Amino acid sequence: MTKCPICNREKTPSLPFIEGICIECYLAKKPIEPVRLKIKRCKVCGAVFLKGRWEPDPSERVEALAAKEAEKALKKRFGPYGFEAMVNWRGDKFKAQLFGNEGSYSMPIEVIIEEEKTICPTCLYRRSGSYEAKIQIRSNSGSVDKRTFDEVMKIISSFSYDVRSSVVSIDELKEGFDINLMDKASAKIIASAIADKLGGEVKTTYKLISEKGGEKRTRLSISLRLYSKKGGELVELNGEPALVVRRSGEPAKVILLPSRREIKLSKIEPNALKPFSGEAHEATLQAVLPDKVIVLLEDFSTEEVPISSVFGGTDMGKYLLVESENGRFLIKREMVL
Ligand SMILES: [Zn+2]
Ligand SMILES: [Zn+2]
Repeated sequence: MTKCPICNREKTPSLPFIEGICIECYLAKKPIEPVRLKIKRCKVCGAVFLKGRWEPDPSERVEALAAKEAEKALKKRFGPYGFEAMVNWRGDKFKAQLFGNEGSYSMPIEVIIEEEKTICPTCLYRRSGSYEAKIQIRSNSGSVDKRTFDEVMKIISSFSYDVRSSVVSIDELKEGFDINLMDKASAKIIASAIADKLGGEVKTTYKLISEKGGEKRTRLSISLRLYSKKGGELVELNGEPALVVRRSGEPAKVILLPSRREIKLSKIEPNALKPFSGEAHEATLQAVLPDKVIVLLEDFSTEEVPISSVFGGTDMGKYLLVESENGRFLIKREMVL
């Protein structure tokens, strides 16, 4: 039976020995130094520089990184005695666990996070007011509504930090809003995503802003004119009836009713879309046959529509019967404004 020569306690799986004495006596003789972690923190926005890049919302990651750092230090020190180390953040302190063939032992460990206060590149640009690119969001209707603004913000925030952090500032204007960006590449990526999702016309121009020592600096200006077309709007494209479809997370598109062809709204010239000139009637689906459906109209008459002209599935319920020179189409009511 092994006993600690200092405290006279027996060796057990919860009291392993190191260098012939129990771990507690060992730690009393040779305490664990606090583990130090140096980080850079932006004093303006609080972003933290971790693993080569700036993290905007670093709270959990700093603790995870500190725990890793402490683990490394413990493995280095106790590895030679046959111990593995694990360190966890417990919400208010770090807890370390040593475990090996000899047994395991838990203890608190002090981790000192040393912050170097600095300013991250985004805030630096924001302060100096210098930016390389601008996306101007405008609308055919003359103003951009709150919902569109929110959708644009959602699209921007869906990008990786590298892309979205290039947004320096947003100027809200009467006729729309301007997004100022640090770099041209991110501006192009963001603008094309917005045009894709919301449907719009993109115009790109470069403007010379300064010429220092033969080096030309240009500012990229991307003008994005969004269509005021709403999802569910019935329109005509080259004389064919069509339906505008907007689903969140998908590019806005137009479905041509006769051919069922789908075209991205961003691929269509804005003046190519005309208001729908045919007729539309409320209808209730009554029966589904192998090749056609039968609907009841409000005047209690019935009509037949081929299955190939039905949009939105063939559940019983409310539909809109659309009549035009190109034929009759039945669209699920909730798909149409
Ligand atoms: Zn002891
Ligand atoms: Zn910052």
